[in-house]
Amino acid sequence: MKKTTREDYRIVITPRRLGDLGWMSISDRMASSDIERDTRERCEAIVKQVKRHVDNVGSVEMQFSEVHTCSYCCLTWEELTAAEATNPSYQQDEHSIEGEPVCCDKAIDEFRAARDIPAVEWDVKS
Ligand SMILES: [Zn+2]
Repeated sequence: MKKTTREDYRIVITPRRLGDLGWMSISDRMASSDIERDTRERCEAIVKQVKRHVDNVGSVEMQFSEVHTCSYCCLTWEELTAAEATNPSYQQDEHSIEGEPVCCDKAIDEFRAARDIPAVEWDVKS
């Protein structure tokens, strides 16, 4: 028969949301001008406190996932694949290449300027 044994025990600590003030709750955006920085600092402080005050801790590490967004339009960062770059229905124009962002004009302009690729003629297209 199948026997289940639990091993590799870990304790996961989730930091309190920045906007969770205990006595009231507001959005993280209202509580912080830089959510990523303030959350990282909160977690670093928790790591220090656990190391200093908690017995029998083998190791403490901060883990996170990365989310890629466009700094101009805040949408999820997406780029043309090699196949899309050669497909006219995905191309901005004949100069579109693999890796070109797809979210907004500013991101595409920046990508092209950094690579000396002729800019999209936005006025003609729209
Ligand atoms: Zn964008």
